[in-house]
Amino acid sequence: MIRYRAAWVLPVAGRPIASAVVSVDRGVIVSVGGPSGGAVEDLGHVAILPGLVNAHTHLELSWLRGRVPPSTSMPAWARTLIGLRRGLGGAADPVEPIVDAVAAARASGTCLFGDVTNSLAAWDPLRESDLSAAVFAELLGFSAKEPETIVKVALEGFADVTPAESLRLSLAAHAPYSVSPALLQAIGRGNPDRPLSIHLGESAQEIEFLRQGTGEWRALLEALGAWNPDWIPPACGPVEYLDRLGLVHDRLLAVHGVQFTDDELARLARARATVVTCPRSNRWTGAGEPPIDRFYASGARVAVGTDSLASVDDLNLFAEMAEVRRLAPRVPASRILESATLAGAQALGFGSALGSLEPGKRAELLAVRLPANCGDVEEYLLSGIEPSDVTWLEADSR
Ligand SMILES: [Zn+2]
Repeated sequence: MIRYRAAWVLPVAGRPIASAVVSVDRGVIVSVGGPSGGAVEDLGHVAILPGLVNAHTHLELSWLRGRVPPSTSMPAWARTLIGLRRGLGGAADPVEPIVDAVAAARASGTCLFGDVTNSLAAWDPLRESDLSAAVFAELLGFSAKEPETIVKVALEGFADVTPAESLRLSLAAHAPYSVSPALLQAIGRGNPDRPLSIHLGESAQEIEFLRQGTGEWRALLEALGAWNPDWIPPACGPVEYLDRLGLVHDRLLAVHGVQFTDDELARLARARATVVTCPRSNRWTGAGEPPIDRFYASGARVAVGTDSLASVDDLNLFAEMAEVRRLAPRVPASRILESATLAGAQALGFGSALGSLEPGKRAELLAVRLPANCGDVEEYLLSGIEPSDVTWLEADSR
């Protein structure tokens, strides 16, 4: 048994506790804030909190860091990214930047990823790390001829990776403008009982595409030879479109939602779906500012992600929380912290093991150094914590 005392303990499942003790035994939390009988390691002026959850990344794109400049048009940003990726000439995404990105995310306090992949290139770096992940095998195809076969091949590919207790596979659809309705439905059928991720309501151009079938996304599909002339625009918003196809449910992670209306958010809330916000990426790609106040007001579950290093400077979730705070100054700090921990863990299917400090959960404990007069500890944690102030606590008896 190890017992840690800290100036503040943030269970996330309850209010912060001053001068409290967390007890762990063989990697599992035994008690939080309880009596401290026995020897206690006093950590001093730090806050103990659960490891953070980055609910949306693409680790395999880490080699694109700094190579896709910020844009005012998301389709233009995507064109640059697609061009660079095609420049690999079919070669795998380089692994070394993935290893570095995972290590940097760990050093800044992340214990769980929701990682979207086309190549499974991040599987082994994740397996060899201390992190857990819901790994989403992402499918694309707007003019795909045999959607059931595409899903079957993807699911068969799950058998090719070395299994790991900390990693779980499920399917993702890229976006409504890049996946045909038939393939969206096939993905839904092929992914029962698992989380499902999709980029949704990200850019204004996506809304134009769904309502009228025109605009920059259509031009990009045509340029790529992927346009389907038989496709009839649904003439509705992205959430209603997905709902018609049977994909709005409590396992859905709707990533970005910059364009969501209040009605769409209410529909997601009724379905107990999750909105994953990545505000720094939204600014970089030109998608705009996400309506974070409205996300929280809607009652939908809100999680936080960084997106990939092709649209953000780092995978530090503390930096992402600082941007959430900047855009939504009236949202209680406790709710933003919950989004970056428990809500993300629940959305990714790891809620029983991670995301909060509760007896029986895995002891993924962060200690964050506090300044002498930090005032409101929750607010301080949203101010942009640097990795140099973050320490992982030993969870096994020595
Ligand atoms: Zn993404």
